[in-house]
Amino acid sequence: MRESSTFDALVIGAGVAGLFCATELADAGLRVGVLEARACPGGRARSWHHAGMGLEVDVGPHVISSEHVHFMRMLRRVGTATQVDWQPGILVTLLEERRLLDVASVSWPPPLHLLANGPMTLRRLGVRASLSHWPVIREAARVDEAGLRALDAVDAFSWLGSKGMAAEAIDWFWRSTLLSLLNVPLEECSAASALRIFRLMLGRSGYHFGFPRVGLSQLYVPGCSAAIRERGGEVYTRSAVRALDVQDGFVRGVRLRSGALLLAPWCILALPPWHAAPLLARTREPLLAPLQATARRFLGAPYTSTVLALDRRLGPRRFWARVWDPEDLNTDFYDLANIRPELAGAGSVVACNAIGPNAHPEWSEQAVVARTLQELQDFAPAAREARVLGASVHRIRGAVPQPRPGTETLRPGARTAVTGLLLAGDWTDTALPCSMESAARSAALAAEVILQRTIALAPPETYGLVGLLRSRRAK
Ligand SMILES: Cc1cc2nc3c(=O)[nH]c(=O)nc-3n(C[C@H](O)[C@H](O)[C@H](O)COP(=O)(O)OP(=O)(O)OC[C@H]3O[C@@H](n4cnc5c(N)ncnc54)[C@H](O)[C@@H]3O)c2cc1C
Repeated sequence: MRESSTFDALVIGAGVAGLFCATELADAGLRVGVLEARACPGGRARSWHHAGMGLEVDVGPHVISSEHVHFMRMLRRVGTATQVDWQPGILVTLLEERRLLDVASVSWPPPLHLLANGPMTLRRLGVRASLSHWPVIREAARVDEAGLRALDAVDAFSWLGSKGMAAEAIDWFWRSTLLSLLNVPLEECSAASALRIFRLMLGRSGYHFGFPRVGLSQLYVPGCSAAIRERGGEVYTRSAVRALDVQDGFVRGVRLRSGALLLAPWCILALPPWHAAPLLARTREPLLAPLQATARRFLGAPYTSTVLALDRRLGPRRFWARVWDPEDLNTDFYDLANIRPELAGAGSVVACNAIGPNAHPEWSEQAVVARTLQELQDFAPAAREARVLGASVHRIRGAVPQPRPGTETLRPGARTAVTGLLLAGDWTDTALPCSMESAARSAALAAEVILQRTIALAPPETYGLVGLLRSRRAK
């Protein structure tokens, strides 16, 4: 990289958003420089070789859903879509007091698909608590984007209470779902974000999960980097951007921590909010002060992610989740021995996530491993005799931006007040929960500003009877 290299576009941050955006631009013929502060690309969806266990470990296990349409489009582009191991039929296996409950995934017209799990819900919650969902179902079926946003100031716990939701239903369904999908306790979650996700669960069917058969970085980093290089661009690691260079309301380029100045007519800031805010502060551009203040409002959920290699197999399941309990450590579990072909012949390798208040950053690694093993024993009796052959505990301070009350309506769009400066990243206004899919859609939204053609797909909408009700109401 020369002192004042010139590119068609500079992308700051080599996570899913930055690499996908750079690939879209490179495919359109642009020479793109991607600048990454760390020694390796991938951001919050990265993996590395763990010498002790002899395997590629992820920063924390990630699931891909059938709703990850932008993310899968990019995997198809880089030739790795077949590296996702889909689990149709069962959405998730729930573990509750040592009992396993398979939640079915069916493609019946919404909301009839809910009937597939109706008997299980009735058995677990009883008639009164199950029916207490009715006012929320009614609202979710009718609400439009404006109605959703109007609920942003309210927390999900108060809002569900105001709708008469039974306490058992809140604890059993809502706490588990929102902690694992939105990474936030109910009391600290925007009602708008909670209703957005429930509305899609109600008005879409057949959704199911898939698991990467390779380490997360392998899914997209080599393919995107190759696409960027093919057009004369590059992914520069250990290249932290210190500040943007802005003059007369136009972005000119970026200044690296090393002092080098790189020039481009377009700069895409593809950072999480907690990294974007200090960079914007160092830029000292009054036009960017409101964006800096917005970025400061977003806080990341802490995660503790653990991998345990065991000397025996726990069973054939790929994925299970514990029903919410305040005393738990981990929420979701993945047996990589049933997902990754290279681990097929040996004992189980279980990767799991502890999220938000359950992440317990104050616990020692030993305590995390011991509790994880105990939670595996609830899942499979074979874990009681199992020996731990290797363990990795990874703590992430800011894993995913939490949708706290007031933040759903603050999510910024791709354009900024500075001409030529665009935003991407999971936290931007994609109408999706913060995730790899949101990062991928944000990449498409930023690329379409530069390329002046539609690239992003429309946000997911409800269909079936729920969609019919919505469109009749809109008329
Ligand atoms: C443990 C864990 C589990 C998760 N589970 C799931 C899941 O199951 N499904 C799902 O869809 N999503 C999941 N997510 C969320 C998903 O990983 C993120 O939403 C997504 O990766 C965000 O991508 P991004 O490109 O927006 O940001 P990032 O990945 O954060 O990329 C930003 C990049 O910018 C770099 N950077 C920061 N500052 C600078 C600077 N000044 N100069 C240059 N570079 C800089 C960072 O190092 C980083 O590489 C999970 C995340 C974690 C951590």
